Amino acid sequence: PGTIAESRCLVIGAASGIGLATAERLRASGAAVIGADLPSARWPGEDPGSLPLDVTDPESVRAAVASAVQAMGGLDAVVNCAGILGPVASALGTTVEEFERILTVNLTGAFIVSRAVLPAMAAAGYGRLLHLSSTAGKEGVINMPAYSASKAGILGLVKSLAKEFALTGVTVNALAPGNVMTPLFQEVPAEQQAAQAAKIPMGRFGTPAEAAALIEFIVSPAASYTTGVVFDLSGGRATY
Ligand code: NAD
Repeated sequence: PGTIAESRCLVIGAASGIGLATAERLRASGAAVIGADLPSARWPGEDPGSLPLDVTDPESVRAAVASAVQAMGGLDAVVNCAGILGPVASALGTTVEEFERILTVNLTGAFIVSRAVLPAMAAAGYGRLLHLSSTAGKEGVINMPAYSASKAGILGLVKSLAKEFALTGVTVNALAPGNVMTPLFQEVPAEQQAAQAAKIPMGRFGTPAEAAALIEFIVSPAASYTTGVVFDLSGGRATY
């Protein structure tokens, strides 16, 4: 594709928050877009052509990707916004099962999505894959040990994949939002939200539309010399 309008896009986790705003923005830009989310997801309004999938289940991801390729005739860009916050709790208050569940959805899920989409993109000689990390993965947020670890894992995954596919025309990047007003962020207890807000030079949380605007650029054909990069979206709360 020469422009985003010519791109065929799959947005995972598209029923809510950043994924929903991304699917809306890409559609508004003229791209072909299919949204996917859990079978149990409640879609706001009617999502044309949405697909059920669970990123922890390789077979469901494979089937959804095959449906998307069939429906659009190929796949140029994949934005993986599937993620969970999990219980906000101290490390000792987090069970091993809870820790593993968050790692499985947020990190293993990203690996499963990557394995499902990268071979065809590489064969086509073009692709844009974006996973969602978080400033939590760079800073380590108190009372989010598993979430922070899962989002740190995305950084390593994306950088490794970027190198593996660097000669194929496929880029693999991550977006690291700080605090974006979505249903997920609203699960954070009020006092912890206030502590986060105090760290933001712009003095406000971000919006899903602001996340979608940066995502659109990262998965556009124009972003052709940028891979293995973690883009901050944090209102000036620069993290290394
Ligand atoms: P959200 O809860 O509004 O949306 C997440 C979507 O992922 C939901 O629709 C949910 O059904 C879907 N999902 C969850 N588990 C899934 C699974 N196993 N398979 C498929 N879909 C699944 O949350 P959001 O805030 O829009 O978050 C999107 C991404 O951005 C997440 O990875 C999140 O960790 C990351 N993020 C968000 C913020 C923030 O402040 N909102 C900050 C940093 C990172």
